[in-house]
Amino acid sequence: MHTIFSNTHHPFSDKTFGKKLLLSFCIGCLFSSLLLHPHHTKAAVYKKGFTYRKLTPAIKKKITGVSYRKNPYITYNDLRYIRLLYYDFHGDIQSGELIVNKKIVKKVVKIFYQLYKMKYPIERMQLIDAYHADDLKSMAANNTSAFNYRPVAGTNRLSNHSYGLAIDINPRINPYINSHKKLTPTNGAVYQCRDPKKCKGKYARYMIKKSSKITKIFKKYGFSWGGDWVYSKDYQHFEYTIVNVYFVKH
Ligand SMILES: [Zn+2]
Repeated sequence: MHTIFSNTHHPFSDKTFGKKLLLSFCIGCLFSSLLLHPHHTKAAVYKKGFTYRKLTPAIKKKITGVSYRKNPYITYNDLRYIRLLYYDFHGDIQSGELIVNKKIVKKVVKIFYQLYKMKYPIERMQLIDAYHADDLKSMAANNTSAFNYRPVAGTNRLSNHSYGLAIDINPRINPYINSHKKLTPTNGAVYQCRDPKKCKGKYARYMIKKSSKITKIFKKYGFSWGGDWVYSKDYQHFEYTIVNVYFVKH
């Protein structure tokens, strides 16, 4: 208890009153700064243009009922909002945004900083909420994204995107091909051929391959790549596995 009037003495006859009062004010300041002041959600800066923060009320509002749905597994506090720089397909520097799990946020920021330093081309990077959390639409727009609370397509199993532990890079030119050879997004069909010399796609040279630097960078930070899967291929997909993530209690 921190109340200063809990003892039976008249407060002004208590020698410790001043100290207690000060203590109460300090605790009050601490609470109010934690709960009310915007600096509570101040972004951490990795490098200029590369920041991450807890979800602000505005971000929560934007994603709630869209990419974030009420669920027993992942809370707002498990997620972090990243702003970062990248080079687009015209070689211009853009600022992109991602939401990922707090457990991997530092790794993700470092990975994208390395990609930026090597001028890795990314067509666009918006929260999937800009596409109403519709993965097909986001993929068709070649949008790079991470968090989306959704099941794996065609199943009722939760995708690692639901935990903010998976990132899809340039999904149109790095499509998902399921075990029945069905490709999504369909406007990425030309990129089914994964040999940059034979592929007729305009951006064939940007396709992610096992030998690509981006694959090596993600793997260095402990991610696995969907292009290594045996029965299906998800060339756009990098994910970080946390054991027992399904049973995390909040
Ligand atoms: Zn994915």
